[in-house]
Amino acid sequence: MLIVSIIVLLVIGGLIWQYVRQGQSRSSKDVDPLPATDSPLLHEHVAYYRSLPNDKKKLFEERVSHFLQHTKIDGVGTTVDEVDKLLVASSAVIPIFGFEGWYYYQLTNVLLYDDRFNEEYETTGSNRSILGMVGEGGALQSTMVLSKPALRDGFANENSKSNTGIHEFVHLLDKADGSTDGLPEYLLGKTHIKPWVELIHRSIREIKENQSDINPYGITNDAEFFAVVSEYFFKRPDLLEQKHPELFARLEEIFHQNPATPDKELPEQP
Ligand SMILES: [Zn+2]
Repeated sequence: MLIVSIIVLLVIGGLIWQYVRQGQSRSSKDVDPLPATDSPLLHEHVAYYRSLPNDKKKLFEERVSHFLQHTKIDGVGTTVDEVDKLLVASSAVIPIFGFEGWYYYQLTNVLLYDDRFNEEYETTGSNRSILGMVGEGGALQSTMVLSKPALRDGFANENSKSNTGIHEFVHLLDKADGSTDGLPEYLLGKTHIKPWVELIHRSIREIKENQSDINPYGITNDAEFFAVVSEYFFKRPDLLEQKHPELFARLEEIFHQNPATPDKELPEQP
């Protein structure tokens, strides 16, 4: 039994290593500083950044810069400007900002499309227009595709509970243990997995019964629920904490940060 547990842990550990890797202790000299013109852009377009205390703003800029040095962002039939790049990088950094030194090891390219896309990118069989997706294998393994208008809307509309960029990066984080299933096993204590699944299912039932303000797309499955409620957590932490304190507390634990109170001291990084 012990041996089986050890093997399972090794496999999970290996998979996490594959997708989200903790870098060597990076001092600021390993990362080129962000161009001076970028901080005002972050300030203007990224509410999450604006709400950070100054020391964390500095760290956020370093993480954004690191992301942009390692990930190529291209437009497909559309232009990509500095703000687009900063929005992609912010979407990436926000969900892992609570974990020092983490980055998306396998992701090398992000493609921005001028509009929603579907058909060949459709994986579920429904006709839903897709706003973003993460490659599941083959050539797309290291590529994320996002709709540029959806990316921009997610940041421009600061009162909404949605953000397509964050949604896709949360899927990537969720996938780090091998399956995109709404259960980031390595971020939840073993004893917390069952209560988390129960909480997801209870929340999905509430959406189905029309007793919830969470995006109904969350009922698609546990992975979509996790991505949708994470958007809410990072966009409107104040509202989520007030309306869904249990979900908020669980997400604070999962992401190891509290976007409603960004200077709150949290327990040691797991
Ligand atoms: Zn999704």
